[in-house]
Amino acid sequence: MSETPYSDHFDDIYFAVEDGLTESKYVFLEKNNLPEGWQGKDKFVIAETGFGTGLNFLCAWTAFEETTNPAQHLHYYSFEKYPLSKDDIQKYLAHWSGEFGGRLERLIAEYPLRIGGWHTLRLTPQVTLTVIFDDVNRAIPQLETPVNCWFLDGHAPSKNPDMWSETVFQHIGRLSREGTRFATFTSAGIVRRGLQAAGFTVSKTKGFGTKKEMSIGIFEQSTRPSYQKQRPQKIAIIGGGIAGAAMSDSLVQRGCDVMLFEKSGLASGGSGNERGLCNPRISAHRGNEADFYSPAFLAATRRLKTLSKGHDIQLRASGSLHLLSDEAKAKRYQSFVEHWGWHSDHARIISAAESTEIAGVPITQDSLYMPDSIMLSPRKATEYLAQSATLILKDIQSIQQVGEKWHVDGIEFDGVILCGGYDVIQFKETRDLPLEKVRGQVTKVKTSAFFNQLKTNLCYGGYASVPDNGETIIGSTFQKWLDEENLLPEDDEDNISKLREVAPHLAEGLVAIGGRASFRCAAKDRAPVIGQIKDCHNLYISTAHGSHGIISSIMAAEFLTAKICGEHQILPTSTEKFISPSRFKK
Ligand code: SAM
Repeated sequence: MSETPYSDHFDDIYFAVEDGLTESKYVFLEKNNLPEGWQGKDKFVIAETGFGTGLNFLCAWTAFEETTNPAQHLHYYSFEKYPLSKDDIQKYLAHWSGEFGGRLERLIAEYPLRIGGWHTLRLTPQVTLTVIFDDVNRAIPQLETPVNCWFLDGHAPSKNPDMWSETVFQHIGRLSREGTRFATFTSAGIVRRGLQAAGFTVSKTKGFGTKKEMSIGIFEQSTRPSYQKQRPQKIAIIGGGIAGAAMSDSLVQRGCDVMLFEKSGLASGGSGNERGLCNPRISAHRGNEADFYSPAFLAATRRLKTLSKGHDIQLRASGSLHLLSDEAKAKRYQSFVEHWGWHSDHARIISAAESTEIAGVPITQDSLYMPDSIMLSPRKATEYLAQSATLILKDIQSIQQVGEKWHVDGIEFDGVILCGGYDVIQFKETRDLPLEKVRGQVTKVKTSAFFNQLKTNLCYGGYASVPDNGETIIGSTFQKWLDEENLLPEDDEDNISKLREVAPHLAEGLVAIGGRASFRCAAKDRAPVIGQIKDCHNLYISTAHGSHGIISSIMAAEFLTAKICGEHQILPTSTEKFISPSRFKK
C-alpha cells in the first residue's frame, strides 16, 4: 500500500490511501449522477477545482470510456495551484493502476512539466484534459466553456478558504447551464450558501463512509442552448513555413482535408534555418505573454519530441542558459522565475560556477537555466509537419469568398488559414494589419576544440548553439529597418562580436563559413497574430511569430484547430484577445 498523499501547504490529506478510490467514485461520479448524466451527449464538460494526483480525473476518464460510444467526447478542465510531480502521482496511485486499464500510465507519460498555465492533453480520441496550473481565482474568470458537471475538491474550506471564494462561486454559476450539477465532499455552510447564491439548488446528502454529510446541487435557471458550429472539412492553408506546416499537421490529425499553397518551396523564409531554439519569450510578470508562451513552450516541445521519434529533425534536448549579462536582464529573469509559476526543476537562476559546470566551458555570469529547452532543425520539422497535406507550389495573391465558402486558385474550400508571414498583407482581408519584416542573419562557424566542449545552448541577446561535427550556428541579427536578402559579412562579424562580449574564449578564432539571412514577421506590439479575421466566416490567420516562431506556430496550430473544429477552449480568454487579429481594430 502506498503512503497517504499529504499537503504541507494546507496541512491536509488529498485522500485516504485505503478507500480514496471508492470515495472518489462515490462523491464525484455517483453523487453527480454519472455515468447517467453523460448518456446521449456528444460533448460533455467536467471542471474540477484541485487536480492533485488526478485520481478523480482517472475515475471519470475510465467511467466515461467504459459507458459511452466512441463518438462521444469528454473535455475535463482542472485547476491546480501546486502541481505534484510525476513521481509523486506514480507513488500515490500505483496501487490502483489496475483499476484504470493503462490510463494511469498514459497520464503519467503525458503529464505536463510543472509550468504555470493551461496545458491541453488529447489523451485519447474521446478524452481531452486541460490542466490549468494556476490559482483557481486567477484562472477561472478566463474560462468561457459551459460546464456540465463540477467536481469541487479543494482542501477543506477551514484550511483553504481561497479555494472556496466568492470569485470561484460566481464563476461556477456563470459557467453553469440548466441541468449542470456539482458535488463536493464538504457540507460547510459557506460552500452551500456560496453555490446557492450562484444559482444552484443545493442539498446535503450522506457523506462517504463515516462522514455524515456532503453537498450536491443542480443548476435550475433556464439558459439558452449553445449554438453548435458546423465543422469545416476542406481547408486551404496559404504559406508553407512552420506556421502553415504545423497548422496542416494539426488539422490532418483531426481528419480534415488540407491543401497547402506555397509560392517558393517549403520553409523558404525564416523557418528554413538549419537550427532553431525553443524558448519562451521571457518577460518579468505573469500576464498575457506568460499565459501564451508557457503553454506554447510545452505544446511545442512535446509535439517536436514526438515528431523526432519517427523523423530526423535533428532534435537535441540540450537545455539553455540565459546569461544574466546586464542589469536589466538580471532583473527580468529574476522576476520571471518568481512570477511565471515554473517549478524550479524547469527554470531557475544558477551561479556562474554552476553555469560553468552545465555549459562545460567557463561562464562568468549567473544565468537562468532552462533544462527543457530543445534545439532542432526548423527546416526539417516544417517538411515533416507538412507531409500529410497536399502541397501546391503556387503564389496565391487573392482569395474569394463565395457565400459560406472560399475559392483559392479556383478550388472551393470550407475555410482558409493565412500563414504566409509578412506576405499576408497582400490579401485585402488582412491588408491593414500593422506587421513588419525583421531581417535576421545567422552565421555558421567552424568551432575550436575549446568550443566543442559546449554542452548547452547559450542565450545572451544573441545565441550560440551546441556544436555538432566541429560546426555550429550563432545568431542572430535583428534588423527591422533592412530589406537586404543577400548575406552581409558585417552581420557575421556582429554575431561573433556579440558572443565575444559575454564569452570571449568561445569567440576566439571563430571564422564564418556560411550563413543564412531571412525575414521574420512581427506585429507592432510584438505579440503573434492568431485567430479568426473579423466578419470573415471561416477565415483565420497565424502569423507574426517573430523570434519565437517554432513554439508560437505550434501553439497557434493547436489553438486554431480547436477553434475551427468546434472543440472546447484551450487558452485563457484574455490570451485569446491578446493574440487576436481584431485587437488592432479601434
Ligand atoms: N482531486 C484531487 C485528486 O484527485 O487527487 C485531490 C485534490 S486535493 C484535496 C486539493 C488540491 O487543490 C490540491 O492539489 C491543492 O494544491 C489544490 N489547490 C488548493 N488551493 C488551490 C487554489 N487556490 N487554486 C488551485 N488549486 C488549489
